[in-house]
Amino acid sequence: MTAEPQVQPAASDVLESVNPATGEVIGTVPITDEAGVRTAVARARTAQPGWAAMPLPERQRIMRRLVRQIVDQLDTLAALITRENGRPPLEALTSELLPAADLAMYYIRHARKMARDERLPLHLFPQRRSIVHYAPIGVVAVIAPWNYPFLLPFSEVFTALMAGNAVVFKPSELTPLCGQVIGDLFKAAGLPIDVLQIVQGDGRVGASLVQAGVGKVSFTGSTGTAKKILKLAAETLTPVLCELGGKDPMIVLDDANLDRAADAAVWGGFMNAGQTCAAVERIYVDKRVAQPFIAKVVERTKQLRIAQGVAGHEDDFGPMINERQRAIVDRHVADAREHGAHILTGGKRPDGRGGFFYEPTVLTDVPQDRPIMQEETFGPVLPISTFATDEEAVTLANDSVFGLSAYVFSENRQRAMHLARQLEAGSVLINNVIDSYGAPETPWGGVKQSGIGRIHWGVNGLREYMEPHHIMTERIRPLRKEMWWFPYSARGYRRFGALVRFLFGRGGR
Ligand code: NAD
Repeated sequence: MTAEPQVQPAASDVLESVNPATGEVIGTVPITDEAGVRTAVARARTAQPGWAAMPLPERQRIMRRLVRQIVDQLDTLAALITRENGRPPLEALTSELLPAADLAMYYIRHARKMARDERLPLHLFPQRRSIVHYAPIGVVAVIAPWNYPFLLPFSEVFTALMAGNAVVFKPSELTPLCGQVIGDLFKAAGLPIDVLQIVQGDGRVGASLVQAGVGKVSFTGSTGTAKKILKLAAETLTPVLCELGGKDPMIVLDDANLDRAADAAVWGGFMNAGQTCAAVERIYVDKRVAQPFIAKVVERTKQLRIAQGVAGHEDDFGPMINERQRAIVDRHVADAREHGAHILTGGKRPDGRGGFFYEPTVLTDVPQDRPIMQEETFGPVLPISTFATDEEAVTLANDSVFGLSAYVFSENRQRAMHLARQLEAGSVLINNVIDSYGAPETPWGGVKQSGIGRIHWGVNGLREYMEPHHIMTERIRPLRKEMWWFPYSARGYRRFGALVRFLFGRGGR
């Protein structure tokens, strides 16, 4: 399949999309050169005011048509996600298309309320009226990863557009066809021409886009790339929203429902072959229940059905995205083994399969200071360690440069809440894993090196793509001039001194 780009770039080369289950090339797209990136931004800038001026009901109508397009093409889209990213079709549906449609409908339904000006009553100046008017930023660059090639870019492109911006979107170079299909869906829904531009290519194209004069960069990807983008953006003080990597801990307390915890660990660690930013990347289990918990995790891991080639409906587990990612898993597992870890299942590439498969792997006795416990592995490995007290569990969980999500399993809600409040993470889920991304009412983002800014979170998600403009006016005809304007005098000083003492001094208001 060769997708048609919306911006006809001066293509010097093409990007090949590879099916990670087979290594087969499944399509190509032209790479956008630097001039093409600048043209895309210029066109988006020209188109944006018209889009922002379009009455909200009309914008909502277009976006409703967009959701219908997704529903009408559900099976084709799920199949494309499976072929380009490797995840099983059910996951493509539940973890990409369903939350994408839901997020869109959520913002379509609530856009009117959210786009309203906000009134700010002023306690010191009751005679004045202050409002915050939220204006679109202008052109937003969306730079996306490959691991959720539909949901993540779709959500950011959608929200930025809904807020009245034009968008220039660069999909990951590993999933250009999913990127292209997002553009096609918006086009088919009737989005005005040029409001959404797609540019294709690797990090060099991303870097050109950051420097092409956009109003904001919405970046989802690795922490390493974010640091490069932030340096580039510093030149022009362009704001950058960063949704980055994680090393999410799961804590299993001695009073946890071990069956649920084991099922959650296996799904949270191995769905999308462990290539989820909020994947369970390390587990800390109370010593008292470690043995039965680990046995359950191993048993369930062994039951996972690994796809033979492209994943079908009865497969639980697909390939990793490419050799580069698989090599990281090899390195982390080999290092852990050398430092005393025991591999209870997996720990290697499966025999006789093409593509980039790696067996779902469970390890124990993993030293806390090794890369498998400290760096983002982003693959199908579950390293498990034990703790003796709740305090130790918190210390181990917080021993990370990352802070995206964290998970606590306990039947005692108060105890779990007490731990949750101490964990350094953007989201803590109690007795669950990963899926708070799918709740657009809740904030999504990380602390420490897992991110800057928050998406979703109801109105705040829309406002990430808007500029707050404060407007202040007088309710009643004002005096000729304010008392603190020129000319200054000793009498004026005494008057204001008395006012400050009256307002804030001992015995004041
Ligand atoms: P990546 O950082 O390698 O690439 C992400 C995007 O940035 C790609 O489109 C890439 O082409 C582009 N890029 C690379 N170098 C660039 C540069 N110098 N300037 C501008 N753009 C550049 O990440 P990836 O491997 O595609 O994705 C996996 C990472 O994303 C993991 O770390 C994962 O945890 C993270 N992630 C985070 C979230 C979240 O919501 N926090 C969600 C999904 C993935």
